[in-house]
Formats: sequence, structure tokens, C-alpha cells
Amino acid sequence: MKATVEEARAWVDAASRVVVLTGAGISTDSGIPDFRGPQGVWTKNPAAEKLSTIQNYLAEPEVRRAAWQSRLGSPAWHAQPNRGHMALVALERRGKLHALVTQNIDELHQIAGNAPEKVIEVHGTMRKFMCWGCGMTGDMQRVLDRVRAGEADPPCRDCGGILKSDTISFGQALVPEVIERAMRVAGQADVFIAIGTTLQVFPVAGAVPIAREAGARVVILNAEPTPMDHLADAVLRSSISHTLPTICGP
Ligand SMILES: [Zn+2]
Repeated sequence: MKATVEEARAWVDAASRVVVLTGAGISTDSGIPDFRGPQGVWTKNPAAEKLSTIQNYLAEPEVRRAAWQSRLGSPAWHAQPNRGHMALVALERRGKLHALVTQNIDELHQIAGNAPEKVIEVHGTMRKFMCWGCGMTGDMQRVLDRVRAGEADPPCRDCGGILKSDTISFGQALVPEVIERAMRVAGQADVFIAIGTTLQVFPVAGAVPIAREAGARVVILNAEPTPMDHLADAVLRSSISHTLPTICGP
């Protein structure tokens, strides 16, 4: 028998180090589509996943031109945090949030009000660009302004290298220090809550067994079943923006 929302709430009330892992599902109520859900970007258009590999991006100018147009039109630029994000701000204000690991690149946790030092962005952020040639990073809007002004595939102004968003593309290695920190905090949790993630992508999904083995209560809140459900003390399929305030809120 898996536990209920009320029991999950009681674990959080008693906890002092809650570690949260969020995926695309927490941002869908902010109007940002997820990738692998029923309405997901890659479910509806499997070719898009292939196009987003780093190898294709670096090799094919037309892939980059399409990527810049896609970035320009991203719904994330106008998205606002929803009640799910705000519940995690409340959790931090209660002094219980040890760390917030996110697979999301939209920065809605920081925009909602979580302290940037609590947020571990394992897949980077779309709000910055990086240069594949020299490694320089900066505000993405500066590059998008160049695209709007007519540069279909703007190169780095320092080295002429290929620019991309400062995110982890398919085929690109994670940043070791970032993923190590994510796994370390998972092992320090007394309650671990995975929210809106299908838990199919490793090594991030490995945070669940790490937290479990360290003795944490594990709560999975996701619309679809995940491969980690058997490790969880509570598996909740309800709406994130409705359920999370009950579990984490003031
Ligand atoms: Zn450069």
C-alpha cells in the first residue's frame, strides 16, 4: 500500500532536509510543453529529438537555423511560475528545502523566488547562451536580438565559434560537478520528492535510489507511471499544481 497525500504532508512537516527533483511536468501548467508525456514535444514529433542532438547541431547549419527560430518562439519567455513552483518557494521559506535539483532549463524556480544557490540545474539554462568554441557564456536575449535582426545562425563575436543555449543537448556530457552535487544532496535527504519527471534519464534518475538507500522517504508526483515507482513510499498521479501546495505549502 502506497501512502496518501496527507501522509506525504506529514513526512514533510517532520523533515528538516527535503530534496526535490523536478522535471518538465512542473512547468506544463505554466504553458511549457513537456517532452515525453502524451502531449510531449518528442511524443508528437520524434524527429525533433534527433534534431536536438549536439552532433547534428554542430554539423548542420540548417539544424542551427531551425534551433534559433525555435528558441525565439519558445513559450518559456512569457511563462509565469504556477502554484507548483510557488509551493517549493513556500517549502524553502519554511526552512525545509535542502536542495532543488531540476532537469528544467526555464529558470521558473528562481523566477518564482527560490534562492539560486538552492537550485541545481543539471541540464543548464535556456536563459544563457554559450560558445562551443571559447566557452563564453552570456544573456541569451542578446543573441536572440541578433537573430531577430536577421542573423539566422549568429556566430560568437569573440572567436567566430558556434553559439548554442547553455543547456545540455542530447549527446552532450553533463557537467560533472553539477551532477555530483545533485547526487550528494540526494544522499542527504530525509524526504525526497520527485515531481513531474518520468525518471527515465540517467544519471539524474539515480538520485531516487540514492535517497532511498540513505533512508529518505520517497514521494513521486507524476502524471504517468515511472520506472522508480517501486522505490517510492508514496506515488501520486494527481495534478502537480493542485497537490504540491498541500504537500509543501505553509
Ligand atoms: Zn567564442
